[in-house]
Amino acid sequence: KFITFEGGEGSGKTTTLSRISAYFDRHSIPYMLTREPGGITIAEKIREVILDTKHTEMDARTEALLYAAARRQHLVEKVRPALDAGTLVLCDRFVDSSLAYQGYARGLGMDEVWSINQFAIDSLMPDVTFYLDIEPEVGLSRIAASLDREVNRLDMENIDFHHKVREGYHMIAAENPERVVIINADQSPSQVMNDIVCELEKGILKD
Ligand code: C5P
Ligand code: MG
Repeated sequence: KFITFEGGEGSGKTTTLSRISAYFDRHSIPYMLTREPGGITIAEKIREVILDTKHTEMDARTEALLYAAARRQHLVEKVRPALDAGTLVLCDRFVDSSLAYQGYARGLGMDEVWSINQFAIDSLMPDVTFYLDIEPEVGLSRIAASLDREVNRLDMENIDFHHKVREGYHMIAAENPERVVIINADQSPSQVMNDIVCELEKGILKD
């Protein structure tokens, strides 16, 4: 099974994923934890190029293509082999990030971004996606308060951009109710984790 985690800045994906991993460890459920963009050497390098604060001249389509390229390599090298071996894959971001950030918030168009991503993923989609939903103001204030987070090019975007990202995710969730579960991320880490575990236990961990 392929489980992805999505959310805007400061939604707590990283914290949540470490808690979910701990849950799987406790229950001796084998899994692989990975992230996008990145997860493997080539994709981590592409990530550096995309997120470098010096690359202010990067064109939006270039950015979308780089995300798709990183996604492709990560999927071929890491995600698909794990899924083929029957391993549960937990992935921090996947194609919905591109649809929400580049397609909707940057205005490239969700259909356009979807089509380049179809080429990249050839029909591999998550079984379930948890979208960690939070007001951008709350998310950004969490980031401002955390000391260890790396600064990236996205930190230069204004609040409207982050509102659009959220709107984009809500559209994706509305169009894919069978796949996307909206989680209220404006709760304590343990409450967020409980909500997700609850969904997993009544869904893909049932059998
Ligand atoms: O998930 P993480 O916070 O590590 O993502 C790194 C940065 O990349 C974030 O600022 C995120 O908003 C940005 N990003 C993006 N478009 C994507 C995926 C991530 O702008 N498709
Ligand atoms: Mg993170």
